[in-house]
Amino acid sequence: MFDLLILNGLVALPGELARLDIGVREGKIAALTPNLGDAAAAYIIDATGQLVFPGFIDCHTHMGIPIKDTWSADDFASGSRAAAWGGITTILDFTVQAPGQSYHNALLERRGRAQRQCHIDYGLHVNLTDNNPAWQPEIGQLIADGFTSFKAFTTYREAGMMIEPADLRRLLGEIGRHGGLLMLHAEDDELVSQATQANQAAGRLAPIYHARSRPAAAEAKAIRDAAAVAREAGAPLYIVHLSSQAGLEAGLEARAKGTTIYLETCPHYLLMTEGMFERPNGHWYITTPPMRTAADAEALWQALADGHIDTVATDHCPFTIAQKESGGQDFSRTPNGLPGVATLFPLLYTYGVQDERISLARLLELLAENPARIFGLAQRKGQIALGLDADLVVWDERVMTKVNAAEIPGAADWNPYQNVVVGGKVTFTVSRGRVLIAKGQFVGPDVWGECLTAASLPSAHPE
Ligand SMILES: [Zn+2]
Repeated sequence: MFDLLILNGLVALPGELARLDIGVREGKIAALTPNLGDAAAAYIIDATGQLVFPGFIDCHTHMGIPIKDTWSADDFASGSRAAAWGGITTILDFTVQAPGQSYHNALLERRGRAQRQCHIDYGLHVNLTDNNPAWQPEIGQLIADGFTSFKAFTTYREAGMMIEPADLRRLLGEIGRHGGLLMLHAEDDELVSQATQANQAAGRLAPIYHARSRPAAAEAKAIRDAAAVAREAGAPLYIVHLSSQAGLEAGLEARAKGTTIYLETCPHYLLMTEGMFERPNGHWYITTPPMRTAADAEALWQALADGHIDTVATDHCPFTIAQKESGGQDFSRTPNGLPGVATLFPLLYTYGVQDERISLARLLELLAENPARIFGLAQRKGQIALGLDADLVVWDERVMTKVNAAEIPGAADWNPYQNVVVGGKVTFTVSRGRVLIAKGQFVGPDVWGECLTAASLPSAHPE
């Protein structure tokens, strides 16, 4: 007797597709064989003609965070419904540290919020924005408690979020000493501030000046500078939302010099260019870093195929049309961020795998195996294997769909990929054996997500 059976699907195991039945008991994958058709179960999904994937992990989201006098539109509840709808069963979000609040207190507050709202499993990276040295002793304890990843910004000085170079050196050393991982938003603040102020002074406020104010050179410089510090500290580094060829080259150069450096990119750098900012509603597309040129996107796709980029995550941080309009089309006053969780897997599958830019095996590494390994979750997540959490996604490749904001159960009332063709549909999403999405509709309980902690520390980059 099983709690759940998924029968007759083509199951994506590491390295091969196999026609298998999956039996789930007490939230874990309990059987993986070709012949469970006669077994009994409380819930049976017939996946004939469909693919079955491990639940995907979005290792970079921002549910309900303050930005430019407003809040990102999705809270943990609506954002995790949208994520499940798109085949994501785990999100890794970030703490929000108020000035004067310790790292640990910020974690408790954010975890409380997620606990009350989140429909899927979640982890939290610890933001380092108020870097009072008094909080430093908490780092070792947080890592021991399984909160092993931290996040800092080399820009946003005006918002009080930037890490000073001396603090970066100090905290990278501390994190490295305890075996943790620092994630970095890498844009050189001086280059960005200079360009932004020059554009504002000249009255150049149209959305395209968002891109002109945050050049690729600022990303490359920040990566080089931080990699040098990480190398000296003997600490690994994880670069979030890599957007440019120049940034990629800086990352690869650091890796060649011996820095352990993980690279993450996002769908919007692969599927859109800065041309979006010149549309009539170009200000809706403002996100940081900005989208770049077609050549940059091509370089990132190539790096995905070559295995140089480790993860694709969304940086999910949606705003409604009303919020996007609140800045009067001035790039510097428009809240920056895009929705992404609902479309991450469908778009990567369509424009990556179906368009033969990356293999299916590579997609599974980028969206499941690598985030699980890097963030210490591989003992439970990231693959379809006996004993692991029954986080499963059923995908019907026989139906062609189009992205439609109205169908996505999140808070955003628009989508940057509206009407873009998708070569399939998530029919079922299962989280620890519990069906959250059935026939494309959210059917899960109000609160289901568990707070995840890392069981193992990040290991060295395989290259
Ligand atoms: Zn982000």
